[in-house]
Amino acid sequence: MRAFNFSAGPSTLPLDVLEEAQRDFLDFSGTGMSVTEISHRNKAFSAMVEEGEALLRDLMNISKDYAVLFVQGGASTQFAAVPLNLMHNKKADYVVTGNFAKKAFQEGKLYGDAECVASSADQTYTYIPELSNIPFRDGTDYVHICSNNTIFGTRYPEFPKTKAPLVADMSSEILSREIDVNQFGVIYAGAQKNLAPAGVTLVIARRDLIQNPLDICPTMLQWKVQDENGSLYNTPPCFAIYVAVLVLRKLKKLGGIKAINQINEYKAKLLYDFIDNSSFYTNNVVKKYRSIMNVPFVTPNAELDDAFIKGAAKEGLVSLKGHRLVGGMRASIYNAMPVEGVKALVEYMKKFEKENA
Ligand SMILES: *Cc1c(COP(=O)(O)O)cnc(C)c1O
Repeated sequence: MRAFNFSAGPSTLPLDVLEEAQRDFLDFSGTGMSVTEISHRNKAFSAMVEEGEALLRDLMNISKDYAVLFVQGGASTQFAAVPLNLMHNKKADYVVTGNFAKKAFQEGKLYGDAECVASSADQTYTYIPELSNIPFRDGTDYVHICSNNTIFGTRYPEFPKTKAPLVADMSSEILSREIDVNQFGVIYAGAQKNLAPAGVTLVIARRDLIQNPLDICPTMLQWKVQDENGSLYNTPPCFAIYVAVLVLRKLKKLGGIKAINQINEYKAKLLYDFIDNSSFYTNNVVKKYRSIMNVPFVTPNAELDDAFIKGAAKEGLVSLKGHRLVGGMRASIYNAMPVEGVKALVEYMKKFEKENA
């Protein structure tokens, strides 16, 4: 039986996409070769990269002013690529709303005067700082935020208006809700949460901002070089890109981001409503900042949390253990988590509560 996989990443992919990849695994696009064997310079593959870019432009309404890149190294490598491409004045502001935001900030400090201008660490990252009160500095090269905080289960309901270009790590929510790309200088996202298997990272970058990477920027991290080479400067993660394209085709067929967002809102509401109406389960996040992708929660004590996770796994509800920084449980309910998975989780939560309250 296929599990309902609530892993934060790598995470569940649509079953029909996996089946299609399996069906075509030995013969990609009639080439008589597997997509894992084919040259990335083969037309059949480069057409796939072009289609991926075109689908992203279509789904996210990305103009020609932006480059759309498939790169490697995960979102964590982009923590360095951001300052290496943008930090000409060696000055950048960071909003620290969780562990990944903090890591990005620490990486930024390696290259210049990076400052944490707002943080929600005082309340263990259970909220997003009030945007109108953030003391952004003048003369910065960019402002960095993490739009959805995977570990703590928060997200920005809206984004700050900044003088400097806004850079956002959207790894755990890319393609899950409608956003206006034009509000951002750069968006990046490791694909292994909402888009593809691990190995590929998406970068959407305003072209006018990326023409002068710092002298010390490695060639591989120069977005300009990746853009000039259509993401084929070197051997890309072919299989991950291929699966990403299958996922994007499916999303388009479904009706795009608006359609998936409605489903995501519905799934999140099922879970949050149940938690809020229960005196047994708790989610600590300030309501208006709750993520619709990552839902952390606890029972009354850590022993019950353990029992909950073990019992859930027996019923095919897996990877519900919270991140080690917060403990408890976390249900990651990305685009590919079916509604039935969330319903099954809520049913199990009811049962567990009855048996243990
Ligand atoms: C998972 C995650 C990362 C780390 O991604 P890698 O691809 O493993 O480097 C960074 N930021 C956010 C918001 C994440 O959810």
